[in-house]
Amino acid sequence: MKHVLVLGAGQLARMMSLAGAPLNIKISAFDVHSENIVHPLTLEVLGQGLEQAISQADVITAEFEHIPLDVLAVCEASGKFLPSTDAIKAGGDRRIEKALLDNAGVKNAKYAVINERNGLDAAIASVGLPMVLKSALGGYDGKGQWRLKTLDNLEQIWTEMAQCIADSNNQAIVAEEFVPFQREVSLVGARNQHGDIAIYPLAENVHTDGVLTLSTAIDEPELQAQATQMFTAVAESLDYVGVLALEFFDVNGQLLVNEIAPRVHNSGHWTQQGADTCQFENHLRAVCNMPLGSTDAVRATSMVNILGEDSVPDAVYALAGCHVHWYGKEKRAGRKMGHINVSAANQRDLKATLIQLADLLDESAYPALRPAAKTL
Ligand code: ATP
Ligand code: MG
Repeated sequence: MKHVLVLGAGQLARMMSLAGAPLNIKISAFDVHSENIVHPLTLEVLGQGLEQAISQADVITAEFEHIPLDVLAVCEASGKFLPSTDAIKAGGDRRIEKALLDNAGVKNAKYAVINERNGLDAAIASVGLPMVLKSALGGYDGKGQWRLKTLDNLEQIWTEMAQCIADSNNQAIVAEEFVPFQREVSLVGARNQHGDIAIYPLAENVHTDGVLTLSTAIDEPELQAQATQMFTAVAESLDYVGVLALEFFDVNGQLLVNEIAPRVHNSGHWTQQGADTCQFENHLRAVCNMPLGSTDAVRATSMVNILGEDSVPDAVYALAGCHVHWYGKEKRAGRKMGHINVSAANQRDLKATLIQLADLLDESAYPALRPAAKTL
């Protein structure tokens, strides 16, 4: 029996726990805000404090990248933490992330770092308009972002950005060229302590208001080869251990990395039903120094996020190929409450099942589902 401590007590720790059980891997979750050690499924409090949490664990890992630096330092010092502090920082600070991508020779959007008002003018000159401006620290689900198309609303945007920089320590803004992409895809893969790498098929992702709503595994060898090369470059430069996700823009068949996530990822949830070994199991295998499991796709699969809803009609449970995964969270508008994996024998049947699912669900809660299913 191995004991893995996960920093963070959300749905990703929960799904690691579910995947770890058959392997005799026990998961505890550490809520970095309350400092409680909790059961990842029931959220029952099992203990208190980082020291106790670390002493009980064989391995420490994380389900998110916005971890206080003092917590990271203590975990790293224990010698049990994987993937590594550097990997978590690269995922949590866009300045470090951009430098990592450049150093690894991985294509990404042109950018500039803004610390003060002059920096904004310099960024406009070097990056050009339109621009996407993102807070260096703390962004997720499209939060902490601005779009600058013309100079008309420059001062208003600067006021908001200046406030953002002032609000937290070490904050800055990263200005990026606006990338005219056709679609967004992501790659999830695992690397273990021996340097073995296992990579899942790419997923094509649909975002609605900055939040992932639908993810579908795709089989496109040319893009897969590009993404694999970039994944390998990033994972090796970090000597990464665990599951790592790369988000890309697809611009006429050329991939640019948008961002990296040093953890299991929402766009990899389809692997629970669609792959031989799911991403949660492979993350645990990697950090527990085990062989990686096969990442082969076993059937055509999409994942539909459930946002702000705490129930689905019974007919959804009856639909062949549909699996509902709830996160046990209290309902809040827009909150990630669960997801539905939809699988079928082939892409054509998958499309039909997704349209059947759209017929059962409230269109206002799942606005992307029907249009995206139709274009599959
Ligand atoms: P996540 O929840 O994935 O961590 P995030 O808040 O960190 O999201 P990004 O992934 O950087 O933010 O951006 C959110 C979305 O905004 C992207 O998925 C993409 O649709 C759009 N976007 C981001 N950067 C650019 C860009 N440079 N050009 C065009 N669109 C962009
Ligand atoms: Mg993103």
